[in-house]
Amino acid sequence: MPSDSGPLTIHEARGKLDRREVTSVDLTRSYLDQIGRVEDRVKAFITVTGDLALQQARQADQRIASGDAGPLTGVPVQVKDVICTKDVLTTCASRMLENYVPVYNATVSEKLFQQGAVLLGKGNMDEFAMGSSCENSAFFPTRNPWDLERVPGGSSGGGAAAVAAGEAVYALGSDTGGSVRQPAAMCGVVGMKPTYGLVSRYGLVAYASSLDQIGPITQDVTDCALVLNAIVGYDPRDSTSLNHDTADYTGQLTGELPRPSPNSKGGQQGAIRVGVPEEYFVEGMEEGVRQAVLDAIKTLEGLGAPVQPVSLPTTKYALACYYVIAPSECSANLARYDGVKYGYSFQDTDDMWRAMELTRQYGFGPEVKRRIMLGSYALSAGYYDAYYVKAQQARTLIRQDFDRVFQEVDILVTPTSPVVAFPLGEKTEDPVQMYLIDVCTVPLNIAGLPGISVPCGYSQGLPVGMQLIGPHLSEATLLGLAYAYEQATPWHNARPDI
Ligand code: GLN
Repeated sequence: MPSDSGPLTIHEARGKLDRREVTSVDLTRSYLDQIGRVEDRVKAFITVTGDLALQQARQADQRIASGDAGPLTGVPVQVKDVICTKDVLTTCASRMLENYVPVYNATVSEKLFQQGAVLLGKGNMDEFAMGSSCENSAFFPTRNPWDLERVPGGSSGGGAAAVAAGEAVYALGSDTGGSVRQPAAMCGVVGMKPTYGLVSRYGLVAYASSLDQIGPITQDVTDCALVLNAIVGYDPRDSTSLNHDTADYTGQLTGELPRPSPNSKGGQQGAIRVGVPEEYFVEGMEEGVRQAVLDAIKTLEGLGAPVQPVSLPTTKYALACYYVIAPSECSANLARYDGVKYGYSFQDTDDMWRAMELTRQYGFGPEVKRRIMLGSYALSAGYYDAYYVKAQQARTLIRQDFDRVFQEVDILVTPTSPVVAFPLGEKTEDPVQMYLIDVCTVPLNIAGLPGISVPCGYSQGLPVGMQLIGPHLSEATLLGLAYAYEQATPWHNARPDI
């Protein structure tokens, strides 16, 4: 059962640091203590960087003393192990990169460090971010702090579990088809996937480059806006980075309904219009999840937002489209792990081709191999038109569906996941059952849209997430609506008893 006295949010921690009620070193020690207390049960970290964290905390304390602190200075974070951190092991939860220590920082890591963040360590995940439960980590599964026999979701399961268990104030994850939003939902925290291109992918180890995006996992919506502020921005080192003036994402956190995003077509003067796409309330969805999301929609209506049903008929193609495009891109991206340039290398043979084969045989786990094979198949001569080109055509239709619906409404509300956290091992033997978990999250990646998952109640005593979806670059509006909802409901205050 949840208790109400949870660990500090970013904004609470910053307040205490600024008022000198706590130092960053003390704060960091208390998080390292919590990791020491619960980590053998939760297993949210692949690497804990205790010494580095204390060193960064000392530097942060100096910055605070000299009046040079920003919104994240001195606050401890966990970063997913698919995001490069200079001189800190970055494994992607794969044997292939078991010993890989990057010589450079990802742009987001660099941004956090420049702003005085304290790195507690690197988060467990599904291998190369392929999975929905964190069980595809080559090292160990992470467990859900709400029920240790259940998965935390995935692939950024380590981040969501760490934040829920009070092992980190916030985390960075990556989201290719739901990997920030879905584990956030299953662990009762907030997770956001920004618009494609808003956050630099430089130094994010590539899974499916046209879908990948880094996003925050936080305890509340205010923290989510603060982290987004810190990581966005044009980056010439990412060719898909948007050259766009970024707003202050805390700007619409008033508790009132936000203004519609300028990217919603029509009706921008009036109250924000909420659409409920029936296609997201899929067959086989858990009844408790449906009920919690419908109740949340009533709350939004009570706040003064007109709600109407809308239809996105191409939703039914989204999962199939994703599971052609993502593996296709993965098969190309993962070709670089050949045992020659870096990473694991099978040495006991003089035959170069055999060495490459064995490197990949031992270096990759079963799900990664399945994706590479699916993708290679979809891209091969004779099948390319039937699968890859078809999936790209479906992608266009899905995008157009969203464009059309965003003429009628400003924001869409859906469940984040059709089910709550499920027992470890329940879906590992059946990949298609596992893929079905992504049904509500992948359409956004396909269309490049932003989305946020916020806690909206419980089913079977486990957290349920509501997903808000907006047009491109509508993050400020999404955060504003999520905040108004959060302020009107108690869910974000609950913490698992661990
Ligand atoms: N579960 C999806 C997959 O396995 C999404 C993963 C992600 O967003 N990285 O591909």
